[in-house]
Amino acid sequence: MKLLNGIAASPGIVIGKALVLDSEDISIQQKTIKESSIPKEITRLQDALTMTRAEIMGIRDKISHEIGQEHGDIFNAHLMVLEDRVIIEEVMERIKKEKFSAEYIFSQVLKKYIQSFLKIDDEYLRERVSDISDVGRRVIRHLVGDQRSSLTDLKEKVIVVAYDLSPSDTAVMNRKNVIGFATDIGGRTSHTAIMAKSLEIPAVVGLEKATHTIKTGDLIILDGSAGTIILNPGAAELSKYRQEQLRYSDFNKGLKRFKDLPCITKDGRRLELAANIELPSETDSVLSHGADGIGLYRSEFLYMNRVGLPSEEDQYQAYKTVVLAMAPKPVIVRTFDLGGDKFLSHLEMPHEMNPFLGWRAIRFCLATPDIFKVQLRAILRASAHGKLRLMYPMISGVGEVRQANKLLEEARNELRAKRIHFDPKMEIGAMIEIPSAALTCDILASEVDFFSIGTNDLIQYALAVDRINEKIAYLYEPAHPAVLRLLKMIIDTGHSKKIWVGICGEMSGDPLLTPVLVGLGIDEISTSPVMVPEIKKIVRSMTFTEAEDIAKHALTFNTGDEVIHFLKTKYQQGLRLSAGKK
Ligand code: PEP
Ligand code: MG
Repeated sequence: MKLLNGIAASPGIVIGKALVLDSEDISIQQKTIKESSIPKEITRLQDALTMTRAEIMGIRDKISHEIGQEHGDIFNAHLMVLEDRVIIEEVMERIKKEKFSAEYIFSQVLKKYIQSFLKIDDEYLRERVSDISDVGRRVIRHLVGDQRSSLTDLKEKVIVVAYDLSPSDTAVMNRKNVIGFATDIGGRTSHTAIMAKSLEIPAVVGLEKATHTIKTGDLIILDGSAGTIILNPGAAELSKYRQEQLRYSDFNKGLKRFKDLPCITKDGRRLELAANIELPSETDSVLSHGADGIGLYRSEFLYMNRVGLPSEEDQYQAYKTVVLAMAPKPVIVRTFDLGGDKFLSHLEMPHEMNPFLGWRAIRFCLATPDIFKVQLRAILRASAHGKLRLMYPMISGVGEVRQANKLLEEARNELRAKRIHFDPKMEIGAMIEIPSAALTCDILASEVDFFSIGTNDLIQYALAVDRINEKIAYLYEPAHPAVLRLLKMIIDTGHSKKIWVGICGEMSGDPLLTPVLVGLGIDEISTSPVMVPEIKKIVRSMTFTEAEDIAKHALTFNTGDEVIHFLKTKYQQGLRLSAGKK
């Protein structure tokens, strides 16, 4: 038995066999060939490339049909890797020169590219690495004739253990047989973790050495709520965790009765409890969990994993689908936030030393107004079909809001000229996720209709803690006094300027912190759909006055640990302890 500690990324407990995906998958034995066999070897390589191409196209079509086109489009990026002439030509040259088998040379070339990409500390290249190794594994499988099962056609239930998971891995994983996943890298707010929650697959990230410690076939217990893995558990652990599983599933069943109830405190303060989504197909989950609307639609996922940018029509259709599915409930579309840990394989974005501080989100949009206005027009057009709100990410000062609003006005005029309908009263919001925006939110409030606090970024910038770096994850403290003071300041200022204030970072789904958010006067909470029932239950279990007292008290402590200790005590005294927290 061995305990591995990581970061809790997506709640739930699963017990099962591990399937470890790592670079071992592409280590092939060295085999020499005769000079006369070179043409045959090259033909074998070409056949394998053709078969891989057909295989990927088949998967793309299957996934598009079964889960949605946005998932299927991921595989277009894979097809591009397959057509990379630099790699293919190097393999052919080396087969001729070194006289080793095609699979051996191919695996060597692949490793060389992957290793040199990995040495560069750059998220964009890391995304390319997972595309390259994904495609590479398929080519080698065709070369060696190994029909090893891949993530798409698993025959039994497994817990996937990987260094990291690409969006394509997670898309294919949305199937019955992947019951959990664990990764070496990543933090609670990395997009891998956010995706796991959307798919409702229990997950632990930031385990550092899981792929070295765990072997395929090992029995593991994954506790996505506590952020732990137990490797080769004994009978005692197995029985303890089976009971925990039952308790968790009973707890979730109990939450079902909250689905159609309003999110209101005992003394009548009503909050809007919304959900975060990445893809239009998630609206079913938002509705089935009883959310009041969508508080954050991360529109950049429409741009990712595809060849070329989405057209105005593509985007309009996606936003319209979401708005119609949710109507009459409100939907907030966040204009696209690329950069940070979300990159496009096809759009030339420079490689930056500090991508989270770099050319990201609204900065990129304002520098490329032609790309940005396509999105603005699509959002405006969709606003004619329901209650749509728009918000800008990564605002650092009022100048950016003014520039963005100017482009929005241009987009409105372009539509007016073509007599295309939109909602002229659509609310416009600013995400408050940079300390400079928090400190000047009195100025920002005059330019927008609402604020949505993006704590994932606000915490990383206020505390100077990279949100996806597992080594410093212990410093990433949502309950840090600096964070609580910032929240209070933003909410109080928003209210004094007569605008409403919401929160949409992952902190909004932490049941321990809900009383503080409510007590600080937050008007809207937007969280992963799966967390909606539990947060609603907590809000309904207290009075606003109680929550105000808790928030006031929480602000008197010197450290985040003291705040957490205080909140845990409060829960033990009266508020019901959530199933997820130990
Ligand atoms: C945030 O920063 O809190 C947020 C909600 O946006 P993202 O996680 O997409 O950066
Ligand atoms: Mg953010």
